[in-house]
Amino acid sequence: MTKIDEALKRLEEGNARFASEQFEHPNLNEELRHKTFHEGQSPFVSILSCADSRAPVELVFDQGIGDIFSVRNAGNIYDDIELGSLELSVYKFNIPLIIVMGHTDCGAIKLGVKGDRLQGFMTRVIDHVIPVAEKVRETNPDLEGETLETEVCKANALRVVDEILYHSDIFRKKVYDGDLRIIAALHCLKSGKVEWL
Ligand SMILES: [Zn+2]
Repeated sequence: MTKIDEALKRLEEGNARFASEQFEHPNLNEELRHKTFHEGQSPFVSILSCADSRAPVELVFDQGIGDIFSVRNAGNIYDDIELGSLELSVYKFNIPLIIVMGHTDCGAIKLGVKGDRLQGFMTRVIDHVIPVAEKVRETNPDLEGETLETEVCKANALRVVDEILYHSDIFRKKVYDGDLRIIAALHCLKSGKVEWL
């Protein structure tokens, strides 16, 4: 089994435990805190996900300290700092897998679907989502409500994967060499289950 497959399996098993409330809560003890402090971290995955308080990645995948390099913002959108953080994680820890994960009932996505830019720096977030929402509407004019929002959420995560690959020479080379995979995902808040897209 490759490092990529192993990482995916670990996430799938952890998410199954989360969704069925069979938590193991691995890697949360004092010994591990000391070990990772002295020896450093070696996370097996990087996840770009939404800052929503209902979508904490360590819980959603039942992982602990030192397991997930986590980058979060409202709407799991892409910008230079997010890309730089992901590149750092792969460069420093040789991570074989990056997940870009959106979730159902996402506030940032809903605002983007409405086209409501609010004010201040919030517009920076929503401006990323609006063109995605417009494109989904164009392709699927019959969608509305929750179904439309979920489709936009999926399209947003898939677009971020494309953008990461388009902008990062480092990642393109690693993916081409088979050393890295970048996957979009949707986390259903109700069921707790994560679906790869
Ligand atoms: Zn969200």
